[in-house]
Amino acid sequence: MSVLDILTIPNERLKHKSTEVKYFDNKLEKLVNDMFDTLYASGNGIGLAAPQVGIEKRIVVIDLKEEGNLTPITLINPKIISSSKENLTNEEGCLSIPGYYAKIERPSEINAEWQDIKGNTIKKKCVGLLSICVQHEIDHLDGVLFIDYLSNLKRKRALEKVKKYQKNS
Ligand code: ZN
Repeated sequence: MSVLDILTIPNERLKHKSTEVKYFDNKLEKLVNDMFDTLYASGNGIGLAAPQVGIEKRIVVIDLKEEGNLTPITLINPKIISSSKENLTNEEGCLSIPGYYAKIERPSEINAEWQDIKGNTIKKKCVGLLSICVQHEIDHLDGVLFIDYLSNLKRKRALEKVKKYQKNS
């Protein structure tokens, strides 16, 4: 078990595009376990993408902790197949932007496809918070952060909030 360091803005590595996972081996399993340890250690996080811990591979771990129970989902090479026209606005936060939250509009439902830790293909219709979370995490794999959807002024404010947060913690 290891808790990994989470990169925060303005680290340029968060803007890199991650590459596909090809090998479903013990190394992948260990990394996924470490990512869950890191997610749970964060306290309030519900999703973490590998580039946030400096590993530029298309790996995401999610746990919405529904009804207080642990409900871990591992998404390897996740893709959005289709998105609903209807949007949902949700207040988003990010472990790489600690202390900052903003309302972001995204498609409310998506059909997504990914591989599990063994390489089996999973297809799932994601709605509500899971839909938002999967979209937010796939963005990380493409080097996109939720603040990229905001104005320059708000992005500047996010950076100031993170600096302040880091000084106080
Ligand atoms: Zn994030």
